[in-house]
Amino acid sequence: MSGQIKDIGEEGVIALARSVKYHSAKRLLKGIGDDCAVIRGAGNSALLVTTDVMLDGVHFAYEWCPPESVGAKLLAVNLSDIAAMGGKPEDAFLCLMLPENLAANWVESFFYGFNKIAQRYGVNLAGGDVSRHPDRITLALTLTGRMRRDEVVYRSRAREGDFIYVSGTLGDAEAGMTLLQAQKSTTPFASYLINRYLYPDPRLELGRLLARTRTATAMIDLSDGLAIGVRQLAQASRLSAEIEVDNIPVSEELTAFISIKNNHNHHPSQSLKPKAQSLMPKAQNLFPQEFALRAGGDYELLFTVKPENVRRVERFHLNHPELPQLTHIGTMKENKTDNDEWTNVLGNGGWKHFR
Ligand SMILES: [Mg+2]
Repeated sequence: MSGQIKDIGEEGVIALARSVKYHSAKRLLKGIGDDCAVIRGAGNSALLVTTDVMLDGVHFAYEWCPPESVGAKLLAVNLSDIAAMGGKPEDAFLCLMLPENLAANWVESFFYGFNKIAQRYGVNLAGGDVSRHPDRITLALTLTGRMRRDEVVYRSRAREGDFIYVSGTLGDAEAGMTLLQAQKSTTPFASYLINRYLYPDPRLELGRLLARTRTATAMIDLSDGLAIGVRQLAQASRLSAEIEVDNIPVSEELTAFISIKNNHNHHPSQSLKPKAQSLMPKAQNLFPQEFALRAGGDYELLFTVKPENVRRVERFHLNHPELPQLTHIGTMKENKTDNDEWTNVLGNGGWKHFR
């Protein structure tokens, strides 16, 4: 194989991993290609396993992320993958690779944040490993979960005509990251957005409810943004998807952030640091829904529902007022192209463009 990792990308590396043959397809109900692996358990049970890495300089920044937020988020992002299957979390395994000169109280605060989330969601920290790292904080967490095998919600089971829903509001986390990095946390809307970035809320209650009531036909969590999540779910289900960009739910805080940003774009003498600027989309007068379509890090759930079950979703809040808002944003469509062309469908009218 020629070229470098940057040429083959994450997808290329995963393709190589897929070349490792399964020994027992009977035991492994779902391997690579969903939010969690699904392993056959005793009786009607299934074991869920997920793993995520967080690296200083890539997934967080030592300089501007408080250590308790790093501990909380490492667990939360793994919990979000359990939520996306509809499962209940159980045990965590943590690998810490740390530079020798790191302050001990950084690690102490990291565990304080981790423990808060572990207690809230009933997770045991069951083991792991600690190693020296030559230059930067590197963290890896593996989390297990359990659920009834016949309730597991896969990415791949959406049907043509299913309604597409998303939880919460989108775009907040990426806006918060921009503000945090630019050290602009003084306004009330900024602290809301920064909090959404540092402390994502895993949607475990919602995921459980959707699985238990067999309401979701397919589900994924939005780690890399709505556009990518929709594409992954649609590809796994061998369908296409149409999203009404106007319907993407956004917070008042994001709307305030975008309107200030649009003003800045008209007055180029801005005070943001160059690094933060480069993260911002180039477009003038961006609408918050357009920003939210591409922004990552929200860890909301994207799920599909058969048309006959839509009323049930609309009524969830009557019995579960604590749930995040649920918004209908589109419909699953037949895919007339092969998978490679899916992105073109997305760019050439598959999306109903906003204004
Ligand atoms: Mg995921």
